[in-house]
Amino acid sequence: MSFTFDSKQIFIDGAWRDGLSGKFVELVDPSTGEMLALVARGSAADIDAAVVAAQAALDGDWGAMTAVERGRVLAKMGEIVLTHIDELAEMEAKDVGKPLTQARNDVIAMARYFEFYGGACDKIHGDSIPFMDGFTVYTLREPHGVTGHIIPWNYPMQIIGRSVGAALAMGNAAVLKPAEEACLTALALGEIAVEAGLPAGALNIVPGIGSEAGAALTAHTGVHHISFTGSNAVGTMVQQSGGEHVIPVTLELGGKSPQIVFDDADLDAAMPFLVNGGIQNAGQTCSAASRILVQRGIYDEVVAGMVAQYKALKVGNALDDLNLGPMISKRQQEIVKGYLSIAKTDGLQMLAQGSYADGLPEGGAYILPTLFGDVSPEHRLAQEEIFGPVQVLIPFDDEADAVRIANCTDFGLVAGVWTENGGRQLRMAKKLQVGQVFINNYGAAGGVELPFGGVKGSGHGREKGFEALYGFSVTKTVAIKHG
Ligand code: NAD
Repeated sequence: MSFTFDSKQIFIDGAWRDGLSGKFVELVDPSTGEMLALVARGSAADIDAAVVAAQAALDGDWGAMTAVERGRVLAKMGEIVLTHIDELAEMEAKDVGKPLTQARNDVIAMARYFEFYGGACDKIHGDSIPFMDGFTVYTLREPHGVTGHIIPWNYPMQIIGRSVGAALAMGNAAVLKPAEEACLTALALGEIAVEAGLPAGALNIVPGIGSEAGAALTAHTGVHHISFTGSNAVGTMVQQSGGEHVIPVTLELGGKSPQIVFDDADLDAAMPFLVNGGIQNAGQTCSAASRILVQRGIYDEVVAGMVAQYKALKVGNALDDLNLGPMISKRQQEIVKGYLSIAKTDGLQMLAQGSYADGLPEGGAYILPTLFGDVSPEHRLAQEEIFGPVQVLIPFDDEADAVRIANCTDFGLVAGVWTENGGRQLRMAKKLQVGQVFINNYGAAGGVELPFGGVKGSGHGREKGFEALYGFSVTKTVAIKHG
């Protein structure tokens, strides 16, 4: 079976309908610059209809389902996602400009989230609490109600899986606002939900512009929780908007994540992660390893290894499945070019670049992956999230120096540490101000089961793993006095 949905429509209450604004957003294939599809430009009125449908689902069939039944539907969604692996991967490759293999991995990850959260539905429960004589006290874990999900364009399927999957597992009804730059796989999920038998209104998908549909969702008083993944600037606005009606907001924001390589590291193991952690998805990854901190004694060796890898990196059309596709848009391409010209003006040492494949489509938003050496930890390229395939190498002296440099940005998402010294592994894990630390690996292969999120400017709240289920639910305490 292949998808039949019309991208110009909105998915509300289990059915497709025209957007009330009558307007559309143009999706562009960033590999070619050509128009890919027209998508409905959801309005505040569409968001309102979606929230009403979600509340009705909570009051109706969806709210009445048991945890086991919810789990079965979610697991079914995961199963159906996998039956569409080729179609979804191609859709995502064209929409995001992501090389096909990486897009396929995203499909598998989305399926895995639905499987994981499907299995978790009936395994999370409240407690009974020993209390005063004559009382029985217990807690219930209840859904917030209607949850709003605002997601970016870089990993739509993975972020939908981890956020919508966990929210539905706890019995919330979701309204999803995907990004205006890429939202086709998000829309496809509507069709998958129907096929899996998800009750109408449990999941509603309203594409559109951030300042319109997104802002309307965060301001809607019928929404009880917001999960936002995106930039710090918009995250701040979302937090303020949610604060107006006192709802919890989870913020998954940007990063400037380091991989830290000590002189006792297994360099053969580390080397592929050092580069791939920075250039995956053309560097448009929140947890991109954009800073590589290297102990001075092995600095030259690491430079040589990374330069050799960079020289082999090929950039091309996402469908050609090379190392890197294009940036998501010409705008993002300009932002990255801006950083490259700052580097030039400031005389940064450019160590290596990748190369373009032959016959690159002219309209694509391509940029070469670029590696800079001996960069000051305070330089803008070592401090700001570039969101492109640019990595900086920063030498350090000792453990204390590595910790100081690693922690010296406004962000705190993830960090990688490469060392064979067990004591140092433990000390570094403790001292790094981040939400996830990877020792002798980077990214733990996605880690669906592993709680994820930031500290400092990288946000707050946790998604992924069981911990997300606590975030997507609320504790109710029941104290019964029976004598
Ligand atoms: P963005 O903040 O511009 O957009 C994200 C989403 O917010 C989009 O759906 C957009 O339509 C919506 N939006 C925009 N204005 C809004 C408003 N006023 N009210 C409500 N919603 C609004 O981010 P982006 O450029 O699409 O994504 C890149 C950023 O996302 C980077 O900073 C990256 O690090 C971050 N990110 C973080 C994670 C994580 O898990 N921590 C994952 C992926 C991306």
